[in-house]
Amino acid sequence: MYRTKNCGELRMQHVGEEVTLAGWVQTVRKFGSITFTDLRDRYGITQLYFNEQLNCQLDATPIGREFVIQAVGKVVERTSKNNKIPTGDIEVEITSFKILNASAVPPFTIEENTDGGDELRMKYRYLDLRRPTLRRNLELRYKVNRSVRNYLDTLGFWDIETPFLIKSTPEGARDFVVPSRMNQGQFYALPQSPQTFKQLLMVSGYDRYYQVVKCFRDEDLRADRQPEFTQVDCEMAFVEQEDILNTFEGLFKHVFKDVKGVEMTEAFPRMTFDDAMWHYGNDKPDIRFEMKIQNLKSLGKVYCETVGSGSFKVFDDAETIVAISVPGGSEYTRKQIDELTEWVKRPQIGMSGVVNIKCNTDGTFKSSIDKFFTADQLESIAEYCQATTGHIILILAGAETRTRKAMSELRLEMGNRLGFRDHSIYKPLWVIDFPLFELDEEANRWVARHHPFTAPKPDHIELMNDLSRYGEIKANAYDIVLNGTEIGGGSIRIFQRDLQEKMFAALGMSKEEAQEKFGFLMGAFEYGAPPHGGIAFGFDRLCALLGGQETIRDFIAFPKNNSGRDVMLDAPSAIDEAQMKELGLK
Ligand code: ASP
Repeated sequence: MYRTKNCGELRMQHVGEEVTLAGWVQTVRKFGSITFTDLRDRYGITQLYFNEQLNCQLDATPIGREFVIQAVGKVVERTSKNNKIPTGDIEVEITSFKILNASAVPPFTIEENTDGGDELRMKYRYLDLRRPTLRRNLELRYKVNRSVRNYLDTLGFWDIETPFLIKSTPEGARDFVVPSRMNQGQFYALPQSPQTFKQLLMVSGYDRYYQVVKCFRDEDLRADRQPEFTQVDCEMAFVEQEDILNTFEGLFKHVFKDVKGVEMTEAFPRMTFDDAMWHYGNDKPDIRFEMKIQNLKSLGKVYCETVGSGSFKVFDDAETIVAISVPGGSEYTRKQIDELTEWVKRPQIGMSGVVNIKCNTDGTFKSSIDKFFTADQLESIAEYCQATTGHIILILAGAETRTRKAMSELRLEMGNRLGFRDHSIYKPLWVIDFPLFELDEEANRWVARHHPFTAPKPDHIELMNDLSRYGEIKANAYDIVLNGTEIGGGSIRIFQRDLQEKMFAALGMSKEEAQEKFGFLMGAFEYGAPPHGGIAFGFDRLCALLGGQETIRDFIAFPKNNSGRDVMLDAPSAIDEAQMKELGLK
Protein backbone atom coordinates (compact mmCIF):
# COMPACT_ATOMS: atom_id res chain seq x y z
CA MET A 1 0.00 0.00 0.00
CA TYR A 2 1.34 3.39 -0.96
CA ARG A 3 -0.45 5.03 1.92
CA THR A 4 -2.44 4.07 4.98
CA LYS A 5 -3.97 7.50 5.47
CA ASN A 6 -4.47 10.58 3.32
CA CYS A 7 -3.15 14.07 4.04
CA GLY A 8 -6.46 15.42 5.30
CA GLU A 9 -7.56 12.86 7.83
CA LEU A 10 -5.21 12.72 10.81
CA ARG A 11 -6.50 14.18 14.10
CA MET A 12 -5.62 14.02 17.81
CA GLN A 13 -7.30 10.61 18.07
CA HIS A 14 -4.57 9.19 15.80
CA VAL A 15 -1.69 10.29 18.05
CA GLY A 16 0.66 7.34 18.60
CA GLU A 17 -0.33 5.54 15.37
CA GLU A 18 2.22 4.63 12.74
CA VAL A 19 1.06 5.88 9.30
CA THR A 20 2.28 6.00 5.73
CA LEU A 21 1.39 9.10 3.71
CA ALA A 22 2.02 9.94 0.08
CA GLY A 23 1.61 13.26 -1.67
CA TRP A 24 3.18 16.46 -2.96
CA VAL A 25 5.54 18.62 -0.94
CA GLN A 26 4.06 22.09 -0.67
CA THR A 27 6.73 23.74 1.48
CA VAL A 28 10.10 22.79 2.99
CA ARG A 29 11.35 24.66 6.07
CA LYS A 30 14.80 23.62 7.21
CA PHE A 31 16.25 24.62 10.60
CA GLY A 32 19.69 22.98 10.95
CA SER A 33 19.15 19.28 11.45
CA ILE A 34 15.37 19.64 11.66
CA THR A 35 13.07 20.02 8.64
CA PHE A 36 9.33 20.62 8.44
CA THR A 37 7.45 19.96 5.25
CA ASP A 38 3.77 20.34 4.37
CA LEU A 39 2.56 17.33 2.45
CA ARG A 40 -0.49 17.86 0.24
CA ASP A 41 -2.99 15.69 -1.58
CA ARG A 42 -6.62 16.10 -2.69
CA TYR A 43 -7.80 15.69 0.89
CA GLY A 44 -5.67 18.23 2.72
CA ILE A 45 -2.28 19.08 4.17
CA THR A 46 -0.29 17.36 6.91
CA GLN A 47 2.90 18.64 8.51
CA LEU A 48 5.83 16.21 8.45
CA TYR A 49 8.73 16.51 10.87
CA PHE A 50 12.18 15.20 9.92
CA ASN A 51 14.88 15.04 12.62
CA GLU A 52 18.35 14.05 11.39
CA GLN A 53 19.57 13.76 14.97
CA LEU A 54 17.31 10.73 15.45
CA ASN A 55 18.39 9.12 12.24
CA CYS A 56 20.93 10.39 9.72
CA GLN A 57 18.80 8.92 6.92
CA LEU A 58 16.31 11.68 7.64
CA ASP A 59 18.20 14.41 5.85
CA ALA A 60 15.40 16.12 3.96
CA THR A 61 17.73 18.34 1.93
CA PRO A 62 17.07 16.60 -1.41
CA ILE A 63 13.30 17.22 -1.15
CA GLY A 64 11.97 20.22 -3.05
CA ARG A 65 8.61 21.82 -3.73
CA GLU A 66 6.11 19.56 -5.55
CA PHE A 67 8.28 16.46 -5.14
CA VAL A 68 6.12 13.35 -4.77
CA ILE A 69 7.18 11.49 -1.65
CA GLN A 70 6.08 8.61 0.47
CA ALA A 71 6.76 8.95 4.19
CA VAL A 72 6.35 6.62 7.15
CA GLY A 73 6.15 7.96 10.68
CA LYS A 74 4.33 8.34 13.95
CA VAL A 75 1.47 10.78 14.59
CA VAL A 76 2.39 13.15 17.44
CA GLU A 77 0.70 16.16 19.00
CA ARG A 78 2.11 19.45 17.76
CA THR A 79 3.60 21.88 20.21
CA SER A 80 2.51 24.92 18.20
CA LYS A 81 -0.89 24.13 16.73
CA ASN A 82 -2.24 25.52 13.50
CA ASN A 83 -5.97 26.12 13.81
CA LYS A 84 -6.23 27.12 10.13
CA ILE A 85 -6.12 23.53 8.90
CA PRO A 86 -8.12 20.51 10.11
CA THR A 87 -4.94 18.48 10.73
CA GLY A 88 -3.32 21.40 12.59
CA ASP A 89 -3.25 19.68 15.99
CA ILE A 90 -0.84 16.95 14.91
CA GLU A 91 2.23 16.28 12.82
CA VAL A 92 3.92 13.11 11.65
CA GLU A 93 7.39 12.39 13.03
CA ILE A 94 9.04 10.70 10.07
CA THR A 95 11.00 7.46 10.48
CA SER A 96 11.69 6.81 6.80
CA PHE A 97 10.78 8.34 3.45
CA LYS A 98 11.17 7.77 -0.24
CA ILE A 99 11.20 10.25 -3.10
CA LEU A 100 8.77 8.75 -5.63
CA ASN A 101 9.37 11.46 -8.19
CA ALA A 102 11.24 14.75 -8.26
CA SER A 103 9.71 17.96 -9.56
CA ALA A 104 11.04 20.92 -11.46
CA VAL A 105 10.58 24.19 -9.56
CA PRO A 106 6.92 25.10 -10.19
CA PRO A 107 6.37 28.38 -12.06
CA PHE A 108 4.04 29.74 -9.35
CA THR A 109 3.19 28.98 -5.76
CA ILE A 110 0.68 26.20 -5.41
CA GLU A 111 -1.23 27.46 -2.42
CA GLU A 112 -4.61 28.94 -1.60
CA ASN A 113 -3.46 32.33 -2.92
CA THR A 114 -0.98 32.11 -5.73
CA ASP A 115 1.44 34.57 -7.28
CA GLY A 116 0.81 33.17 -10.79
CA GLY A 117 -1.01 35.28 -13.42
CA ASP A 118 -3.99 33.92 -15.37
CA GLU A 119 -2.18 32.84 -18.53
CA LEU A 120 0.66 31.18 -16.64
CA ARG A 121 -1.76 29.20 -14.52
CA MET A 122 -3.71 28.17 -17.63
CA LYS A 123 -0.51 26.96 -19.26
CA TYR A 124 0.24 24.82 -16.23
CA ARG A 125 -3.38 23.97 -15.51
CA TYR A 126 -2.41 20.60 -14.00
CA LEU A 127 -0.48 22.51 -11.34
CA ASP A 128 -3.17 25.10 -10.80
CA LEU A 129 -5.66 22.27 -10.26
CA ARG A 130 -3.58 21.19 -7.25
CA ARG A 131 -4.55 24.43 -5.48
CA PRO A 132 -7.28 24.01 -2.87
CA THR A 133 -9.39 26.77 -4.44
CA LEU A 134 -9.77 24.91 -7.72
CA ARG A 135 -10.03 21.56 -6.00
CA ARG A 136 -13.01 22.86 -4.00
CA ASN A 137 -14.62 24.20 -7.18
CA LEU A 138 -14.33 20.86 -8.97
CA GLU A 139 -15.68 19.08 -5.93
CA LEU A 140 -18.67 21.42 -5.91
CA ARG A 141 -19.18 20.83 -9.62
CA TYR A 142 -19.20 17.09 -9.08
CA LYS A 143 -21.72 17.43 -6.26
CA VAL A 144 -24.04 19.66 -8.31
CA ASN A 145 -23.87 17.14 -11.15
CA ARG A 146 -24.68 14.26 -8.82
CA SER A 147 -27.51 16.18 -7.21
CA VAL A 148 -29.09 17.09 -10.57
CA ARG A 149 -28.90 13.48 -11.72
CA ASN A 150 -30.41 12.14 -8.50
CA TYR A 151 -33.36 14.51 -8.67
CA LEU A 152 -34.12 13.85 -12.33
CA ASP A 153 -33.70 10.12 -11.86
CA THR A 154 -36.30 10.14 -9.08
CA LEU A 155 -38.75 11.79 -11.47
CA GLY A 156 -38.17 9.19 -14.17
CA PHE A 157 -35.98 11.23 -16.50
CA TRP A 158 -33.62 9.20 -18.69
CA ASP A 159 -30.15 10.34 -19.63
CA ILE A 160 -29.95 9.74 -23.37
CA GLU A 161 -26.86 10.71 -25.35
CA THR A 162 -27.17 12.62 -28.60
CA PRO A 163 -24.50 12.98 -31.28
CA PHE A 164 -21.78 15.60 -31.51
CA LEU A 165 -21.21 15.29 -35.25
CA ILE A 166 -24.40 16.77 -36.64
CA LYS A 167 -25.86 19.18 -39.11
CA SER A 168 -26.04 22.78 -37.97
CA THR A 169 -28.79 23.73 -35.48
CA PRO A 170 -29.15 27.49 -35.48
CA GLU A 171 -29.42 28.85 -31.96
CA GLY A 172 -28.16 32.28 -32.71
CA ALA A 173 -24.42 31.59 -32.70
CA ARG A 174 -21.94 30.43 -35.32
CA ASP A 175 -21.27 26.69 -35.62
CA PHE A 176 -17.94 24.97 -35.18
CA VAL A 177 -17.51 22.71 -38.18
CA VAL A 178 -15.64 19.45 -38.70
CA PRO A 179 -14.50 18.37 -42.15
CA SER A 180 -15.49 14.87 -43.23
CA ARG A 181 -12.75 12.68 -44.69
CA MET A 182 -15.16 10.09 -46.04
CA ASN A 183 -17.41 12.71 -47.63
CA GLN A 184 -14.89 15.15 -48.96
CA GLY A 185 -15.93 18.76 -49.26
CA GLN A 186 -18.65 18.20 -46.67
CA PHE A 187 -18.74 19.20 -43.05
CA TYR A 188 -20.40 18.22 -39.84
CA ALA A 189 -21.33 20.91 -37.32
CA LEU A 190 -20.86 20.52 -33.57
CA PRO A 191 -24.16 21.03 -31.75
CA GLN A 192 -24.89 24.43 -30.23
CA SER A 193 -27.27 22.37 -28.10
CA PRO A 194 -29.09 19.04 -28.55
CA GLN A 195 -32.30 21.00 -29.26
CA THR A 196 -33.67 19.14 -32.29
CA PHE A 197 -32.55 15.73 -30.98
CA LYS A 198 -34.38 16.13 -27.72
CA GLN A 199 -37.48 17.12 -29.64
CA LEU A 200 -37.12 14.02 -31.82
CA LEU A 201 -36.83 11.93 -28.65
CA MET A 202 -40.23 13.33 -27.61
CA VAL A 203 -41.65 12.25 -30.97
CA SER A 204 -40.18 8.80 -30.24
CA GLY A 205 -42.02 8.66 -26.93
CA TYR A 206 -39.15 9.17 -24.42
CA ASP A 207 -41.18 11.77 -22.62
CA ARG A 208 -38.71 12.69 -19.88
CA TYR A 209 -35.18 13.23 -21.19
CA TYR A 210 -32.10 14.89 -19.78
CA GLN A 211 -28.41 15.12 -20.45
CA VAL A 212 -25.45 16.87 -18.83
CA VAL A 213 -23.95 17.70 -22.16
CA LYS A 214 -21.28 19.73 -23.93
CA CYS A 215 -22.51 22.43 -26.30
CA PHE A 216 -20.35 24.30 -28.80
CA ARG A 217 -20.80 27.89 -29.93
CA ASP A 218 -18.34 29.84 -31.99
CA GLU A 219 -19.01 33.25 -30.49
CA ASP A 220 -16.78 36.22 -29.88
CA LEU A 221 -15.94 35.49 -26.31
CA ARG A 222 -17.16 38.12 -23.94
CA ALA A 223 -15.61 38.06 -20.50
CA ASP A 224 -17.24 34.95 -19.18
CA ARG A 225 -18.08 32.64 -22.07
CA GLN A 226 -16.46 29.43 -23.19
CA PRO A 227 -16.61 28.04 -26.75
CA GLU A 228 -17.49 24.65 -25.28
CA PHE A 229 -19.64 24.67 -22.21
CA THR A 230 -21.96 22.32 -20.36
CA GLN A 231 -25.72 22.37 -20.19
CA VAL A 232 -28.18 20.37 -18.16
CA ASP A 233 -30.51 19.83 -21.08
CA CYS A 234 -34.08 18.62 -20.42
CA GLU A 235 -37.26 17.96 -22.35
CA MET A 236 -40.72 16.68 -21.42
CA ALA A 237 -43.77 15.66 -23.46
CA PHE A 238 -47.45 16.14 -22.61
CA VAL A 239 -46.70 19.22 -20.56
CA GLU A 240 -47.65 22.85 -20.38
CA GLN A 241 -45.41 25.70 -19.27
CA GLU A 242 -46.69 25.36 -15.71
CA ASP A 243 -45.50 21.73 -15.50
CA ILE A 244 -42.02 22.67 -16.65
CA LEU A 245 -41.69 25.59 -14.27
CA ASN A 246 -42.80 23.45 -11.34
CA THR A 247 -40.56 20.50 -12.20
CA PHE A 248 -37.44 22.59 -12.59
CA GLU A 249 -38.15 24.90 -9.70
CA GLY A 250 -38.13 21.64 -7.76
CA LEU A 251 -34.78 20.69 -9.28
CA PHE A 252 -33.34 24.00 -8.27
CA LYS A 253 -34.59 23.80 -4.72
CA HIS A 254 -33.28 20.25 -4.45
CA VAL A 255 -29.79 21.22 -5.62
CA PHE A 256 -29.61 24.21 -3.28
CA LYS A 257 -30.64 22.12 -0.32
CA ASP A 258 -28.38 19.22 -1.25
CA VAL A 259 -25.26 21.18 -2.13
CA LYS A 260 -25.52 24.37 -0.08
CA GLY A 261 -27.88 23.37 2.71
CA VAL A 262 -30.07 26.31 1.66
CA GLU A 263 -33.78 25.66 2.08
CA MET A 264 -35.86 27.61 -0.46
CA THR A 265 -39.39 27.25 0.79
CA GLU A 266 -41.14 30.03 -1.10
CA ALA A 267 -42.36 29.68 -4.68
CA PHE A 268 -40.03 31.51 -7.07
CA PRO A 269 -41.48 34.85 -8.08
CA ARG A 270 -42.54 35.20 -11.71
CA MET A 271 -42.12 38.36 -13.68
CA THR A 272 -43.09 39.03 -17.26
CA PHE A 273 -40.39 40.06 -19.69
CA ASP A 274 -42.16 43.41 -20.14
CA ASP A 275 -42.17 44.08 -16.40
CA ALA A 276 -38.52 43.10 -16.08
CA MET A 277 -37.54 45.55 -18.80
CA TRP A 278 -39.71 48.30 -17.33
CA HIS A 279 -38.64 48.01 -13.70
CA TYR A 280 -35.07 46.74 -14.04
CA GLY A 281 -34.02 47.67 -17.57
CA ASN A 282 -33.05 44.12 -18.48
CA ASP A 283 -34.47 40.61 -18.75
CA LYS A 284 -32.40 39.16 -15.90
CA PRO A 285 -33.19 41.35 -12.93
CA ASP A 286 -31.17 41.13 -9.75
CA ILE A 287 -33.96 41.15 -7.18
CA ARG A 288 -31.69 40.94 -4.14
CA PHE A 289 -32.48 44.63 -3.82
CA GLU A 290 -35.32 46.93 -4.86
CA MET A 291 -34.16 50.27 -6.23
CA LYS A 292 -36.53 49.78 -9.16
CA ILE A 293 -36.26 52.01 -12.17
CA GLN A 294 -38.83 54.79 -12.20
CA ASN A 295 -40.06 55.71 -15.63
CA LEU A 296 -40.55 59.42 -15.88
CA LYS A 297 -41.02 59.47 -19.62
CA SER A 298 -40.84 56.81 -22.30
CA LEU A 299 -41.13 57.07 -26.08
CA GLY A 300 -43.31 60.14 -26.08
CA LYS A 301 -45.40 59.07 -23.07
CA VAL A 302 -45.00 61.26 -20.02
CA TYR A 303 -45.46 59.29 -16.83
CA CYS A 304 -44.37 62.06 -14.52
CA GLU A 305 -46.08 65.33 -15.46
CA THR A 306 -43.63 67.46 -13.52
CA VAL A 307 -40.69 66.49 -15.63
CA GLY A 308 -42.59 67.00 -18.83
CA SER A 309 -43.38 70.56 -17.90
CA GLY A 310 -39.80 71.69 -17.17
CA SER A 311 -37.95 73.94 -19.55
CA PHE A 312 -34.90 71.74 -19.29
CA LYS A 313 -33.94 70.89 -22.84
CA VAL A 314 -32.13 67.67 -22.01
CA PHE A 315 -35.38 66.28 -20.58
CA ASP A 316 -37.69 67.82 -23.16
CA ASP A 317 -35.72 66.34 -26.05
CA ALA A 318 -35.19 62.91 -24.50
CA GLU A 319 -37.03 59.86 -25.74
CA THR A 320 -36.73 58.37 -22.26
CA ILE A 321 -36.16 59.66 -18.74
CA VAL A 322 -35.49 57.09 -16.03
CA ALA A 323 -34.52 57.40 -12.40
CA ILE A 324 -33.47 55.41 -9.37
CA SER A 325 -33.61 56.49 -5.79
CA VAL A 326 -30.49 55.59 -3.84
CA PRO A 327 -30.59 55.39 -0.04
CA GLY A 328 -27.91 57.31 1.83
CA GLY A 329 -27.07 59.34 -1.27
CA SER A 330 -28.08 62.75 0.07
CA GLU A 331 -24.73 62.75 1.86
CA TYR A 332 -22.71 62.38 -1.36
CA THR A 333 -19.97 64.93 -1.75
CA ARG A 334 -19.33 66.92 -4.89
CA LYS A 335 -16.39 64.62 -5.56
CA GLN A 336 -18.54 61.49 -5.30
CA ILE A 337 -21.08 62.95 -7.70
CA ASP A 338 -18.37 63.95 -10.18
CA GLU A 339 -17.08 60.42 -9.98
CA LEU A 340 -20.55 59.02 -10.75
CA THR A 341 -20.79 61.35 -13.72
CA GLU A 342 -17.48 60.00 -15.01
CA TRP A 343 -18.81 56.48 -14.46
CA VAL A 344 -21.88 57.00 -16.67
CA LYS A 345 -19.73 58.69 -19.32
CA ARG A 346 -17.57 55.60 -19.77
CA PRO A 347 -17.93 54.23 -23.32
CA GLN A 348 -19.57 51.00 -22.05
CA ILE A 349 -22.34 53.09 -20.48
CA GLY A 350 -22.36 55.87 -23.04
CA MET A 351 -24.38 58.59 -21.31
CA SER A 352 -23.41 62.25 -21.32
CA GLY A 353 -24.17 62.82 -17.68
CA VAL A 354 -26.38 62.07 -14.71
CA VAL A 355 -28.84 64.46 -13.11
CA ASN A 356 -29.24 64.25 -9.34
CA ILE A 357 -31.74 65.38 -6.76
CA LYS A 358 -30.74 65.10 -3.12
CA CYS A 359 -33.56 64.62 -0.64
CA ASN A 360 -31.95 66.24 2.36
CA THR A 361 -32.74 65.08 5.86
CA ASP A 362 -34.14 68.56 6.70
CA GLY A 363 -36.85 68.08 4.06
CA THR A 364 -35.26 70.37 1.43
CA PHE A 365 -34.14 69.34 -2.06
CA LYS A 366 -30.87 70.11 -3.73
CA SER A 367 -30.49 69.32 -7.38
CA SER A 368 -28.09 69.71 -10.27
CA ILE A 369 -31.09 71.11 -12.20
CA ASP A 370 -32.28 73.53 -9.52
CA LYS A 371 -32.50 76.38 -11.94
CA PHE A 372 -35.03 74.60 -14.15
CA PHE A 373 -37.37 73.24 -11.50
CA THR A 374 -39.10 74.74 -8.49
CA ALA A 375 -38.87 73.10 -5.08
CA ASP A 376 -42.45 71.87 -5.51
CA GLN A 377 -41.58 70.26 -8.81
CA LEU A 378 -38.54 68.56 -7.30
CA GLU A 379 -40.70 67.34 -4.47
CA SER A 380 -43.23 65.82 -6.81
CA ILE A 381 -40.45 64.08 -8.78
CA ALA A 382 -39.18 62.70 -5.47
CA GLU A 383 -42.66 61.53 -4.57
CA TYR A 384 -43.07 59.87 -7.95
CA CYS A 385 -39.72 58.11 -7.48
CA GLN A 386 -40.70 57.03 -3.96
CA ALA A 387 -37.59 58.73 -2.65
CA THR A 388 -37.51 59.41 1.07
CA THR A 389 -35.22 61.68 3.07
CA GLY A 390 -31.58 60.77 2.87
CA HIS A 391 -31.95 59.47 -0.71
CA ILE A 392 -30.40 60.77 -3.86
CA ILE A 393 -32.36 60.42 -7.09
CA LEU A 394 -30.17 59.68 -10.09
CA ILE A 395 -31.74 60.46 -13.44
CA LEU A 396 -30.63 59.51 -16.94
CA ALA A 397 -32.20 60.88 -20.10
CA GLY A 398 -31.66 60.00 -23.74
CA ALA A 399 -32.53 57.45 -26.41
CA GLU A 400 -34.86 54.67 -25.23
CA THR A 401 -32.74 51.53 -25.52
CA ARG A 402 -29.39 53.00 -24.54
CA THR A 403 -30.74 54.97 -21.59
CA ARG A 404 -32.69 52.05 -20.19
CA LYS A 405 -29.63 49.82 -20.53
CA ALA A 406 -27.41 52.43 -18.89
CA MET A 407 -29.85 52.76 -15.99
CA SER A 408 -29.88 49.00 -15.57
CA GLU A 409 -26.06 49.11 -15.26
CA LEU A 410 -26.13 52.09 -12.92
CA ARG A 411 -28.65 50.32 -10.68
CA LEU A 412 -26.35 47.29 -10.43
CA GLU A 413 -23.34 49.49 -9.80
CA MET A 414 -25.12 51.30 -6.96
CA GLY A 415 -26.25 47.92 -5.64
CA ASN A 416 -22.59 46.86 -5.56
CA ARG A 417 -21.44 50.04 -3.89
CA LEU A 418 -24.12 49.72 -1.21
CA GLY A 419 -23.31 46.06 -0.56
CA PHE A 420 -26.75 44.88 -1.73
CA ARG A 421 -25.33 42.17 -3.99
CA ASP A 422 -24.27 39.75 -1.33
CA HIS A 423 -23.04 36.42 -2.78
CA SER A 424 -24.46 34.47 0.12
CA ILE A 425 -28.03 35.57 -0.62
CA TYR A 426 -29.84 33.70 -3.39
CA LYS A 427 -32.84 35.27 -5.12
CA PRO A 428 -34.12 33.20 -8.03
CA LEU A 429 -37.06 34.13 -10.22
CA TRP A 430 -38.74 33.10 -13.45
CA VAL A 431 -38.96 35.61 -16.25
CA ILE A 432 -41.86 34.59 -18.51
CA ASP A 433 -43.75 35.72 -21.61
CA PHE A 434 -40.73 36.53 -23.72
CA PRO A 435 -41.32 37.99 -27.17
CA LEU A 436 -41.26 35.39 -29.93
CA PHE A 437 -39.19 37.61 -32.21
CA GLU A 438 -36.68 40.38 -31.82
CA LEU A 439 -35.57 42.89 -34.39
CA ASP A 440 -32.02 42.49 -35.59
CA GLU A 441 -31.45 46.20 -36.12
CA GLU A 442 -28.30 45.81 -38.17
CA ALA A 443 -29.82 43.36 -40.63
CA ASN A 444 -33.25 45.00 -40.25
CA ARG A 445 -35.09 41.72 -39.96
CA TRP A 446 -36.90 39.71 -37.34
CA VAL A 447 -35.03 36.85 -35.70
CA ALA A 448 -36.17 34.27 -33.15
CA ARG A 449 -35.65 35.61 -29.65
CA HIS A 450 -35.16 32.11 -28.21
CA HIS A 451 -34.88 29.74 -31.16
CA PRO A 452 -37.10 28.90 -34.14
CA PHE A 453 -38.67 25.88 -32.41
CA THR A 454 -40.35 27.99 -29.74
CA ALA A 455 -44.12 28.16 -29.99
CA PRO A 456 -46.00 31.46 -30.01
CA LYS A 457 -48.72 31.76 -27.38
CA PRO A 458 -51.75 30.10 -29.02
CA ASP A 459 -53.79 33.31 -29.18
CA HIS A 460 -50.87 35.19 -30.77
CA ILE A 461 -50.48 32.81 -33.74
CA GLU A 462 -52.88 35.05 -35.68
CA LEU A 463 -50.47 37.96 -35.39
CA MET A 464 -47.89 36.03 -37.38
CA ASN A 465 -49.86 37.03 -40.49
CA ASP A 466 -49.09 40.70 -39.93
CA LEU A 467 -45.43 41.73 -40.10
CA SER A 468 -46.19 45.08 -38.45
CA ARG A 469 -47.28 43.25 -35.29
CA TYR A 470 -44.34 40.83 -34.93
CA GLY A 471 -43.03 42.82 -31.98
CA GLU A 472 -46.22 42.10 -30.03
CA ILE A 473 -46.12 38.32 -30.36
CA LYS A 474 -45.31 36.58 -27.11
CA ALA A 475 -44.08 33.03 -26.62
CA ASN A 476 -44.44 30.49 -23.87
CA ALA A 477 -40.73 30.95 -23.26
CA TYR A 478 -39.13 31.37 -19.86
CA ASP A 479 -35.78 31.99 -18.23
CA ILE A 480 -34.67 31.18 -14.75
CA VAL A 481 -32.63 34.01 -13.30
CA LEU A 482 -30.51 33.96 -10.17
CA ASN A 483 -28.99 37.10 -8.67
CA GLY A 484 -29.01 38.96 -11.95
CA THR A 485 -27.67 36.10 -14.05
CA GLU A 486 -29.65 33.98 -16.49
CA ILE A 487 -28.94 30.40 -15.59
CA GLY A 488 -31.45 28.59 -17.72
CA GLY A 489 -34.06 29.03 -20.36
CA GLY A 490 -36.52 27.10 -22.42
CA SER A 491 -39.91 27.08 -24.06
CA ILE A 492 -42.97 25.19 -25.13
CA ARG A 493 -42.23 23.98 -28.65
CA ILE A 494 -43.96 23.99 -31.96
CA PHE A 495 -45.04 20.41 -32.73
CA GLN A 496 -47.09 20.84 -35.87
CA ARG A 497 -45.53 20.89 -39.32
CA ASP A 498 -47.62 23.77 -40.64
CA LEU A 499 -46.84 26.06 -37.70
CA GLN A 500 -43.13 25.21 -37.91
CA GLU A 501 -43.21 26.05 -41.64
CA LYS A 502 -44.93 29.33 -40.84
CA MET A 503 -42.25 30.12 -38.28
CA PHE A 504 -39.39 29.47 -40.71
CA ALA A 505 -41.16 31.61 -43.30
CA ALA A 506 -41.58 34.42 -40.73
CA LEU A 507 -37.81 34.27 -40.19
CA GLY A 508 -37.30 34.85 -43.88
CA MET A 509 -36.44 31.27 -44.84
CA SER A 510 -37.66 29.97 -48.18
CA LYS A 511 -39.68 26.74 -48.22
CA GLU A 512 -36.77 24.96 -49.91
CA GLU A 513 -34.22 26.21 -47.41
CA ALA A 514 -36.43 25.21 -44.48
CA GLN A 515 -36.90 21.77 -46.01
CA GLU A 516 -33.19 21.38 -46.69
CA LYS A 517 -32.19 22.39 -43.15
CA PHE A 518 -35.05 21.06 -41.05
CA GLY A 519 -36.87 18.57 -43.26
CA PHE A 520 -36.00 15.84 -40.73
CA LEU A 521 -37.77 17.67 -37.89
CA MET A 522 -40.82 18.76 -39.88
CA GLY A 523 -41.02 15.24 -41.29
CA ALA A 524 -41.05 13.84 -37.75
CA PHE A 525 -43.89 16.22 -36.85
CA GLU A 526 -46.02 14.40 -39.44
CA TYR A 527 -45.78 11.13 -37.53
CA GLY A 528 -47.55 11.81 -34.27
CA ALA A 529 -45.50 14.45 -32.46
CA PRO A 530 -46.78 15.05 -28.92
CA PRO A 531 -47.01 18.52 -27.37
CA HIS A 532 -43.72 19.11 -25.62
CA GLY A 533 -41.39 21.64 -24.05
CA GLY A 534 -38.16 21.87 -22.14
CA ILE A 535 -35.39 23.86 -20.65
CA ALA A 536 -31.60 23.91 -20.45
CA PHE A 537 -29.44 25.18 -17.59
CA GLY A 538 -25.99 26.60 -17.98
CA PHE A 539 -24.20 24.12 -15.77
CA ASP A 540 -20.87 25.95 -15.52
CA ARG A 541 -22.56 29.17 -14.46
CA LEU A 542 -24.82 27.43 -11.99
CA CYS A 543 -21.73 25.94 -10.34
CA ALA A 544 -19.97 29.32 -10.24
CA LEU A 545 -23.01 30.92 -8.61
CA LEU A 546 -23.28 28.14 -6.07
CA GLY A 547 -19.58 28.64 -5.40
CA GLY A 548 -20.23 32.36 -4.82
CA GLN A 549 -18.00 33.36 -7.73
CA GLU A 550 -18.45 35.11 -11.02
CA THR A 551 -16.12 33.38 -13.44
CA ILE A 552 -17.12 30.03 -14.91
CA ARG A 553 -13.55 29.32 -15.96
CA ASP A 554 -12.56 28.40 -12.43
CA PHE A 555 -15.25 25.72 -12.37
CA ILE A 556 -14.05 23.95 -15.52
CA ALA A 557 -11.08 21.60 -15.27
CA PHE A 558 -9.52 22.57 -18.60
CA PRO A 559 -11.00 25.84 -19.86
CA LYS A 560 -10.04 28.05 -22.79
CA ASN A 561 -8.85 31.64 -22.45
CA ASN A 562 -10.70 34.73 -23.68
CA SER A 563 -9.48 34.23 -27.24
CA GLY A 564 -10.80 30.68 -27.26
CA ARG A 565 -7.32 29.15 -26.91
CA ASP A 566 -6.24 26.24 -24.84
CA VAL A 567 -2.89 27.69 -23.81
CA MET A 568 -1.73 24.42 -22.29
CA LEU A 569 -2.26 22.41 -25.50
CA ASP A 570 -1.59 25.41 -27.70
CA ALA A 571 -4.81 24.76 -29.57
CA PRO A 572 -6.17 25.55 -32.05
CA SER A 573 -3.11 24.96 -34.20
CA ALA A 574 -2.26 24.32 -37.83
CA ILE A 575 -2.50 20.76 -39.13
CA ASP A 576 0.03 19.29 -41.48
CA GLU A 577 -0.22 19.04 -45.26
CA ALA A 578 -0.86 15.31 -45.25
CA GLN A 579 -3.82 15.67 -42.90
CA MET A 580 -5.22 18.50 -45.03
CA LYS A 581 -4.90 16.39 -48.13
CA GLU A 582 -6.61 13.44 -46.52
CA LEU A 583 -9.55 15.69 -45.68
CA GLY A 584 -9.62 17.14 -49.15
CA LEU A 585 -8.87 20.63 -47.80
CA LYS A 586 -6.67 23.30 -49.28
N1 ASP B 1 -31.69 24.58 -26.48
C1 ASP B 1 -32.01 25.77 -25.75
C2 ASP B 1 -30.73 26.55 -25.45
O1 ASP B 1 -29.64 26.01 -25.52
C3 ASP B 1 -32.70 25.51 -24.46
C4 ASP B 1 -34.07 24.98 -24.64
O2 ASP B 1 -34.89 25.61 -25.32
O3 ASP B 1 -34.37 23.93 -24.06
O4 ASP B 1 -30.81 27.71 -25.08
